[in-house]
Amino acid sequence: TSPLIEVDNLRKSFHLRRGMFKPLEELVAVDNLTLHVNEGETLGLVGESGCGKSTALKLILGLSPADGGSIQIAGQHVDLIDVSKRVRLIQPVFQNPNASLNPVRSIRDLVAQPLKLHGGSGAGRKADEMLERVGLPARLASAYPGELSGGQRQRVAIARALILRPKVLICDEPTSALDVSVQAQVINLLLDLRRDLDLTMIFVTHDLSVVEHLADRTAVMYLGKKVEEAGTEDLFASPQHPYTKSLLSAMLSPTSRQNLPDVPLGTAAADPFAKTPGCAFAPRCPNASDICETKPPELKRQKSGMVACHLQ
Ligand code: SF4
Ligand code: MG
Repeated sequence: TSPLIEVDNLRKSFHLRRGMFKPLEELVAVDNLTLHVNEGETLGLVGESGCGKSTALKLILGLSPADGGSIQIAGQHVDLIDVSKRVRLIQPVFQNPNASLNPVRSIRDLVAQPLKLHGGSGAGRKADEMLERVGLPARLASAYPGELSGGQRQRVAIARALILRPKVLICDEPTSALDVSVQAQVINLLLDLRRDLDLTMIFVTHDLSVVEHLADRTAVMYLGKKVEEAGTEDLFASPQHPYTKSLLSAMLSPTSRQNLPDVPLGTAAADPFAKTPGCAFAPRCPNASDICETKPPELKRQKSGMVACHLQ
């Protein structure tokens, strides 16, 4: 069977200025990205802010057109799926729930709205059921977003995303804006919902400890490119790319990282405008050699995944 989501050679660039009087420059936000997600699977997509992961999600959601490549969902080109069908296939949950929650509408109305818009019956009742599923007390159905905590608002956003019973849930840092104590609750809720509703997920985060808990496979992005992908367990047990190693050693506690080489990322941030003929990670890579400056490493198949590094 073919994957539920097939992203092939996706490309998107923006023309931006580094400063008011600087010339327009091309920034390649998503560079030849290929991702496949099977039905029922959760793919983690990780990398620092600015690596193109959110842009990739917007393209997959059909919210923004790609410059090149193709996106197929359930065998259909995303641009050719009409909106009423697309919203039943794929729904997003973003970092900041406030952006999608109109402050003057009740929680029940907000959750029922997608169903009303796209022609479903019993919207109010189904909204109440969905609110219960996401763990919100019934009394909050008539409350307004401003009366809820950040974690409760994110539960409302999740209920809104799921009321049309999509096959795919696309999560973009859904817990990053929440208190640490609330983050785990929302992650556990997503795990329960995934199981109960047979969801396929793409989960974007800069926080590796999150994907460790919920992703079957994890892809690592650096400056618009996928640099490594593997089964999540394999990726954590034996990361291959120097960038993945440095992300992991930054996340793990000093006691649990004994088996990993310490690869600090240093202070240099990734420069998204940099045009290098070689490996984009070379300026920060402790293993860089001459070939890294001149030749781009290609993605090569490995045991359980793939990696783009001349060392591999
Ligand atoms: Fe480092 Fe070279 Fe590998 Fe790039 S190709 S990650 S610079 S060793
Ligand atoms: Mg982002």
